[in-house]
Amino acid sequence: MKTPLIEPVHLIKGKTPFPNCNCLLIEDRTRTVVDTGMEHAVLLECDPLKVDLVLNTHAHVDHMHGNWGFQNARIGFHRFSEAAAQDQEVFGQDYILSMWSRLMPEPLDLEYVLGQPGERMLIRKSTMVAYPASRVDFTFESGDELDLGRVKLRAVYLPGHCRGHSGFYWEKEGLLFSADIDFSEGGPWYYSESADIDEFIDSINRIIEIDPRIIVPGHGRVIKAPIKEAARRFLEHFSRRDETILRQLARPCTLESLMNRNLIIPEYIRPTLIFWEKVMFLKHLNRLIGLGEVREEEGVYYRVS
Ligand SMILES: [Zn+2]
Repeated sequence: MKTPLIEPVHLIKGKTPFPNCNCLLIEDRTRTVVDTGMEHAVLLECDPLKVDLVLNTHAHVDHMHGNWGFQNARIGFHRFSEAAAQDQEVFGQDYILSMWSRLMPEPLDLEYVLGQPGERMLIRKSTMVAYPASRVDFTFESGDELDLGRVKLRAVYLPGHCRGHSGFYWEKEGLLFSADIDFSEGGPWYYSESADIDEFIDSINRIIEIDPRIIVPGHGRVIKAPIKEAARRFLEHFSRRDETILRQLARPCTLESLMNRNLIIPEYIRPTLIFWEKVMFLKHLNRLIGLGEVREEEGVYYRVS
């Protein structure tokens, strides 16, 4: 569905669940789409063959699986996303495969299908079988200005969620597309190998500094000023998760013994969620070790003090 935001920017929102995301259609001199995680019917609403430019916030399937439909557009990614956008092996290793082989005793053996027919991702027995790889016609850097006509978008590097994760800011109207810094009630996601909690926190603080008037996140609802309150609430998830782990470590624990307790993810609706919770725990434990609040010995974690 196409909803006007600020002329000539429209919000494009699909109806189906994951792998969908919020996208922008900018009806400017350079017709532009930001992210393409949209089902086929919604993609057609964008008149895809008349789109000149596609900007992707990062190389996750739910943000790029529609790229194939914009055949006349130049497609751009942050330079750190370029390899994962083009190469399913690079994407698969960062998204699930390398952490799985490090953290899980059994090989990955699930059929994991995302998307619409023809736009799918499939992992079977530790191998990525299908992946919506994208062409990359150019790369951008943080601070680059994309002049679309009336709209000038500035690329803002916002790492933490995964390598290359970026937002786009239209300064004149105070409009930020923040992708997977989505301010959701459930909290931030940092399960890719390249995800990093400290970088994620810095990126949220960067958004607070920018102080946009309106934020379009990659998922969920548009957020209007005051942004700072929403950002602060989103930031609190990190310290709350640290505290949850420290409470569990009242008695020494292995990473294994922290699992299957829904401590971060309230419902394991897909088997991969159990694994991703484990990845996020490991990232918190390593951070707490860095802060001197936890120590580790032979796979057992102890709370210091
Ligand atoms: Zn993502």
